[in-house]
Amino acid sequence: MIHVGYYNGRIEPLETLMIPAGDRAVYFGDGVYEALLFRGRILFGFEEHLDRFENSCRMLRLPLPMSRDQLKAELMKCVDATDSPDGMLYWQLSRGTEMRHHDFPEPDVRPNLLAYTKPMAMPTFAKKRRLKTVEDTRYLHCNIKTLNLIPSVMAAQAAKEAGCDEAVFHRGETVTECSHSNILIFKNGVLRTHPADNLILPGITRMHLLALARDLGIPVEETAFTLADLREADDVLVTSSTVLFSTAEEIDGIPVGGCARELCGRLRSAYMEKFNTCTSSK
Ligand code: PMP
Repeated sequence: MIHVGYYNGRIEPLETLMIPAGDRAVYFGDGVYEALLFRGRILFGFEEHLDRFENSCRMLRLPLPMSRDQLKAELMKCVDATDSPDGMLYWQLSRGTEMRHHDFPEPDVRPNLLAYTKPMAMPTFAKKRRLKTVEDTRYLHCNIKTLNLIPSVMAAQAAKEAGCDEAVFHRGETVTECSHSNILIFKNGVLRTHPADNLILPGITRMHLLALARDLGIPVEETAFTLADLREADDVLVTSSTVLFSTAEEIDGIPVGGCARELCGRLRSAYMEKFNTCTSSK
């Protein structure tokens, strides 16, 4: 199958997979999700994604219907049914199916697990990004990876219409993250990014990159920076699980970065090595 769909144990092509209209994901976006890459059918960063998934569920008081091992086994059914050994795995858990009412369903209503896979070539780090700044009008729970993504959808579309690849969110002068990525800057040899508080999603790629930078002896600062800092950065890095990381070449049509190539190159090699080691069969 090209796009393998999964819903509560049922597997079929994603294009024909039906889910009940009463699934609370449909009318409230009442659930959480994760997405990661797999190569040779090995999931990259699965434990870290699972930790964040469990955290998101805890913050939404969404009970996990199965153990970590059982969840992995269910998700692997999807990966194993995929034609390609390399791709992207998405999964989401919603608060179950019931007639629409805002408060939680009855306790006997079980959460719904939906997943799908998409064959994907592995990222090459080659493509440079064009970014567009957009005011961050999201709420104050951006650390929870919920299905509610409307401000991100609107920002991503605004970026696309401006001929850009990604939108950079800012609250006033303070840069937070991007519509579906984290953002980091290099300035005078220091790697800087917004702290992992409630205003950003604690990205797994961001976390990996910061750890690799520390291992390489590159100074890291988790402090907020401004739009001016962004425009004057030596280099701007955009990270996410599906792209890993890329550097920016333009912000709002003005060239940016290109002055910390050596540091970006060292991080890129370290990240590639980590990715290759984690996804090569033992
Ligand atoms: N921030 C937001 C808002 C995102 O949607 C994503 C991607 N899911 C990220 C950051 C990057 O997170 P990760 O590295 O875990 O994919």
